[in-house]
Amino acid sequence: MQTQLPGMLSETLNFVRQVELNRTIEGVYPVSKLVRLSETLASDEGLVTVKLEFGDCVGFACLKGKVSATLVAECQRCLDPVETAVSGEFKFALIHSEEEMELLPEELEPYLVEGEEQSVIDLVEDELLLSLPMVSVHEKACSDFMSKQNKAAQAAIQADRDAEREASNPFAALKSMQGQSKKGDKFN
Ligand SMILES: [Zn+2]
Repeated sequence: MQTQLPGMLSETLNFVRQVELNRTIEGVYPVSKLVRLSETLASDEGLVTVKLEFGDCVGFACLKGKVSATLVAECQRCLDPVETAVSGEFKFALIHSEEEMELLPEELEPYLVEGEEQSVIDLVEDELLLSLPMVSVHEKACSDFMSKQNKAAQAAIQADRDAEREASNPFAALKSMQGQSKKGDKFN
């Protein structure tokens, strides 16, 4: 367990300078700072943990990042909040021109460096949006949903049992098929 919480990460950094310094930076952002992400969530509480490693990948200036957060999404089944652990990783080669992009090996994604400082918070937010599950639901039964929908659920279980019973008893199935064809005969 960590005894000291990681500090707040700055929103922008000079990526090229960080590569020169070979720096590893760890920090957090409050989820509420990630506006596009927050809009997709039930609540903007919580922290995003970020680790950035600036250095060299097969001869290219490179930024490797890891992000993780426990986000509060809306359960698609009962619409109550549900905590979802989300994590992602990215690895970018820092390039300064499109010509440079052509030189990159396939495993490296290009990041075009423009201006003095680059946005870390945008990278982190993009990665979390990509890592967010398409559908968030409570892993176990949704309590409210289950009580509201209890009758429907019971009926579904009963239908499953009936189907199972039929499947495990081929004679019953045959009988009902015969019954149906007899019924049909009457109409011919
Ligand atoms: Zn639910």
